[in-house]
Amino acid sequence: MKPAPFEYHAPSSVAEAVALLGRGDGAQVLAGGQSLVPLMKARTVRPAALVDVNGVAGLDAIEERDGALQIGALVRLQALVDHPGAARSHPLLREAVRHAGHLATRHRGTVGGSLAYAAPWAELTAAAVALDATVELRSPSGPRSVPARSFFRGPHQTALQPGELVTGLSVPAQPPGAGAAFHEVSARYRDYAHVAAAATVAVDPAGACRAAELVLLRVAPAPHRVDVSGLVGTRLDDAALGALDAALAGLDPPGDVEVSGAHRRRVAPVLARRALRDAFARAGEHREAA
Ligand SMILES: Cc1cc2nc3c(=O)[nH]c(=O)nc-3n(C[C@H](O)[C@H](O)[C@H](O)COP(=O)(O)OP(=O)(O)OC[C@H]3O[C@@H](n4cnc5c(N)ncnc54)[C@H](O)[C@@H]3O)c2cc1C
Repeated sequence: MKPAPFEYHAPSSVAEAVALLGRGDGAQVLAGGQSLVPLMKARTVRPAALVDVNGVAGLDAIEERDGALQIGALVRLQALVDHPGAARSHPLLREAVRHAGHLATRHRGTVGGSLAYAAPWAELTAAAVALDATVELRSPSGPRSVPARSFFRGPHQTALQPGELVTGLSVPAQPPGAGAAFHEVSARYRDYAHVAAAATVAVDPAGACRAAELVLLRVAPAPHRVDVSGLVGTRLDDAALGALDAALAGLDPPGDVEVSGAHRRRVAPVLARRALRDAFARAGEHREAA
């Protein structure tokens, strides 16, 4: 099927894009088009107008600024995976985003699109929450920053207001020597994740955990941050990780046409342990290398 008719705009600046989006005529942003175009072709969505941001200047850079990693909204997911600086400073980004679909979709799909679309399987959303990143937004009334931890509200639901543009993601510096890992289970290679776990662990000079984060995908309406503060001071041995069972006991994951909620409940603790253990081992490698 072909999309329903729509107006097409191709702004060259953020100001112009935001002005077009702010007209209130139901215009939608077109970024990589990997999610939006199939929906338009199925006529599931019928935007009156598209604001194609691919020609907007200044949104496609990855740079360190004020101690944080600044990732422009138009950075392609594969460019983030391939970026050596990002891999060094925030290895969880590469670990997570390399699972986001196939190479071709990662070469078109953008960071801003992944955040705005907020698909329940979107690996970047889990990494952004685990790393305590901030989503940068712009509307006709100016810029606004929203912590990832409150940006994602549910499947395809975010704090984004009508007419607002995602301009980037700001990721704070991580503790030196932190390790990261991401694991997911899907039906086939690079299919949508049924369950995923993102973890970061930092160790102290004696090799014990001094900070840890764990975020699960697809066990709750939005990326789910698990309280793993009980792991601080431990070496993530079986006894310490046993405490995870209590933290995960209350989860009631949704089922869908692919897998049941019960399956997700069984798989989540396995992936959680695997991600935390791998992150801890990598943190230890950094400590030994230092
Ligand atoms: C076969 C296939 C498999 C995939 N598998 C995965 C996967 O496993 N994991 C995963 O995470 N993704 C997956 N994707 C999705 C993909 O990688 C997309 O990158 C992502 O969902 C949307 O990014 P996009 O740039 O293509 O956005 P678009 O499709 O252009 O837009 C998606 C939505 O976000 C809005 N939007 C886009 N950019 C902005 C912005 N800057 N500000 C405000 N709103 C904006 C659009 O208006 C639209 O509503 C897959 C896609 C395909 C086709």
